Amino acid sequence: MAPKVASVADLLALRGGEAMDLNDRFLNPQLGRIVRTLGFDREWAHGEGAHLIDAEGNRYLDLLCGYGTFAVGRNHPDVIAALRDLMDARSANLPQLGVSLLPGALAEALVARAPERIAAMVPANTGTEAVEAAIKLARAATGRPRILYATHAFHGLTLGLLSLNGDEQFRAGFGPLLPGCDSVPFGDLEALERETQHGDVAAFIVEPVQGKGVNLPPDGYLEGAQRSCRAHGTLFVCDEVQTGLGRTGRFFALEHWGLDPDMICVAKALSGGFVPVGGVLVSAAVRERVFDGMERGVRHGSTFGGNDMAAAAGLATLGVIEREGLVERAAQLGELLLELTVPLVERYEIVRDVRGLGLMWAIELGTPASLRRRAVWSLVERAQSGLAAQLLVVPLFHQHRIFCQVAGHRMNVVKALPALVVEEQEIRRFAHALEEVVARADRMGAAVGRLGWDLARGGARALRR
Ligand code: PMP
Repeated sequence: MAPKVASVADLLALRGGEAMDLNDRFLNPQLGRIVRTLGFDREWAHGEGAHLIDAEGNRYLDLLCGYGTFAVGRNHPDVIAALRDLMDARSANLPQLGVSLLPGALAEALVARAPERIAAMVPANTGTEAVEAAIKLARAATGRPRILYATHAFHGLTLGLLSLNGDEQFRAGFGPLLPGCDSVPFGDLEALERETQHGDVAAFIVEPVQGKGVNLPPDGYLEGAQRSCRAHGTLFVCDEVQTGLGRTGRFFALEHWGLDPDMICVAKALSGGFVPVGGVLVSAAVRERVFDGMERGVRHGSTFGGNDMAAAAGLATLGVIEREGLVERAAQLGELLLELTVPLVERYEIVRDVRGLGLMWAIELGTPASLRRRAVWSLVERAQSGLAAQLLVVPLFHQHRIFCQVAGHRMNVVKALPALVVEEQEIRRFAHALEEVVARADRMGAAVGRLGWDLARGGARALRR
């Protein structure tokens, strides 16, 4: 018999402990296995600022940040107030053959913060939808078939975006994918130029800092890529779904290199952590070439694109970012985090690199030099490539109440995306805890080998997103 439909308040108050069980029965039991293997199966009760709080009231520093969604912090009161205001206003949401105010106001606010070339927004509901739209707009605006993307790229997991995904693990089993999509090595300008010069490339779509592995572009790369695109009539598209809205210490990451793209994709943080939202910011030329007559006025869109709730969340989020100086805050705290953690490269054999920009940060592990350590490392890595990074993630969670993730292409990369409202003292606590778990992993003692073995049996591979 179907269970009685209860109120949300009742569900939250009475059934909090059933989340894992319901997931296993009705959603994704394999995700349940991963979460249990890592011991992450807490009963999460609340979110506040940079923290997740479990049913016993323990606070965890959340460095996953909903994959970058909670940049203004979880449950920010200003975003809640804006959404309440909207509901109280009983707005004329989504007239469809008609327009409402808020999506236009959100587009106006984003265009005002974007580089010169950007003139308008094509609304979407997620990051995936925004990048999908960019592919369509690029093909329609140029009349060309090909799309270039960078190795290690992550733009989403729909069929269109798997076609631009730099990780075979994600693509396998879903083909055939979109024709005309080719990868070029991230950072290799000559390879890009070799492709653009054919004159058949609609767009090069690139994350200014790659989310998978937190890969920073080599000096001059993005500026050169933009030049190469312009020289050959290829549109230059920045996917700022993860890097945008202050994450890297600039409002858009592209500002670090003075870029002026034809399209910019945004999503994640714009939601304020509440309402899925996305958009492609486009140049006037792209908009005019794609929507070039009344009969082509609705050739791209979706039912919920540009809804009032999403726009209200977006506008409130932009307000918080500005009032609380979150862009500058990300720049300052990001510098502090690097200052505290870059020295680990010199201090510990297993640390290959520490890198970041603003509050997008990663530590990469690599094979230790000395023989004994290398033997334990190989054992762990043979059990599963990329597993060694879990030797940091698991104790950070259990011993320090710090929640972070492994993120890399069979690389041992641990990634942190703190909320931009994170307290300085929490950044210091993270750096301190990190050194403790790195030091233990670096010793490569028996306990580390055992943890690696336990994790390998549980299959932590799928966590690498
Ligand atoms: N682009 C980038 C750079 C991303 O990081 C992601 C999500 N991780 C996406 C696109 C897809 O966004 P969404 O999950 O909101 O569809």
